[in-house]
Amino acid sequence: MTFESLGLDARILEAVAAAGYVDATDVQARAVPEAIAGRDLLVSSQTGSGKTAAFMLPALQLLATEASAKAPRILVLTPTRELSMQVTRAAETYGRRLKKIRTVSIVGGMPYPLQNRLLRQGADILVATPGRLLDQMQSGRIDLSQLKMLVLDEADRMLDLGFKDDIEAIVQQTPATRQTLLFSATLDGNIARLAASMLKDPVRIDVAGHQTKHENIEQRLHFADDLGHKNRLLDHLLRDAAMNQAIVFTSTKRAADDLASNLNEQGFAVAALHGDMKQGARNRTLQALRRGGVRVLVATDVAARGIDVQGISHVINFDLPRQAEDYVHRIGRTGRAGKNGIAISLANVREHFQVKLIERFTTQRIPVSTIPGLEPKQAVAAKPGRAPEARKPVRSTSKPGHFNGGWKPASQGFGKDGARRGTTPRDR
Ligand code: AMP
Repeated sequence: MTFESLGLDARILEAVAAAGYVDATDVQARAVPEAIAGRDLLVSSQTGSGKTAAFMLPALQLLATEASAKAPRILVLTPTRELSMQVTRAAETYGRRLKKIRTVSIVGGMPYPLQNRLLRQGADILVATPGRLLDQMQSGRIDLSQLKMLVLDEADRMLDLGFKDDIEAIVQQTPATRQTLLFSATLDGNIARLAASMLKDPVRIDVAGHQTKHENIEQRLHFADDLGHKNRLLDHLLRDAAMNQAIVFTSTKRAADDLASNLNEQGFAVAALHGDMKQGARNRTLQALRRGGVRVLVATDVAARGIDVQGISHVINFDLPRQAEDYVHRIGRTGRAGKNGIAISLANVREHFQVKLIERFTTQRIPVSTIPGLEPKQAVAAKPGRAPEARKPVRSTSKPGHFNGGWKPASQGFGKDGARRGTTPRDR
């Protein structure tokens, strides 16, 4: 869905286009119009779904359309300093064409004199962690009487970190007329209770989580002995008559450029898409993909996030994603708008362990497939440093939805619920 159809102010649309976004992500498409209409929202969505813009765009819309006040009108509560900084940057990015919007971040660890000065200068948007905000409110430096919108970002993590009482104390000092948007990765009993006490007749939005079955996407795994073998597999896959358009994922920008140039030499209508490209070039590439002039897009994770092109019949993981979560984002580029899609991962025989982490995260097994004449010669390694084990290929099925044949997820994860750990490499 395009941003133009969401009802946003032209200046916000300009800033979104300048950020390189072409289509709204699922959570944005569903949350933005409801929030602009003034509804409270209860949204389950993961990091990486585009949730920050899903609340920041309507928040900015509210500021763009209402007269200014002397006190903050938007408050975003986040669990961590890092997330506060990210949200603050998002407010600045999407609000840069609006005049005189001041965003101030109030987080623990920041020196009080600096924080006090920022508060004296005034803020339209406050982005804060609950503990420090409450501290500043108790010192009388923050007046929430003019608040129009309260956002609870990653509410489940705030509860995990023990911020429940602080959140309640903060909310008590906001006007009952405020609009409240609650975002959380999970919507369990604790979140439901918090929501019941703070939201008024909320619209509930569940955005496809990592355990969604992706029933219209057939997933396959091909093991490869080495890079040459991967290239031969890719060539074979891209020459499949059923392939309309494909996104091929690599793990680095350099690899994306190199692979695009190899494929170009082999006669494919190919383009690369990654974060080093100038915005204009990225937009032109996406337009060409949308119009069908590009059949194969070689992309990195961050650059390809949110791409919504219905012609994408295949997603090919030339390199496995570094984070299991990225696997879900990648395969979700195909099977758009109710169509069927095929997601094929090429894994080195030594990468069986990474495959297992992905399978654990999605709770689905990815069937191993082989192409006659292109079978791997080496056995598959079970764990890093362990002796190889054979993993039986299963007959590939052309019917989607057959990939979870009785397999149960392992109880131990890839961190809590398999979520992303550490920082996101910005070079992707
Ligand atoms: P979030 O889930 O808010 O942490 O966003 C994850 C990443 O997706 C961020 O790097 C955003 O800049 C990016 N992003 C958000 N919305 C879009 C969009 N509509 N198109 C492309 N990228 C987006």
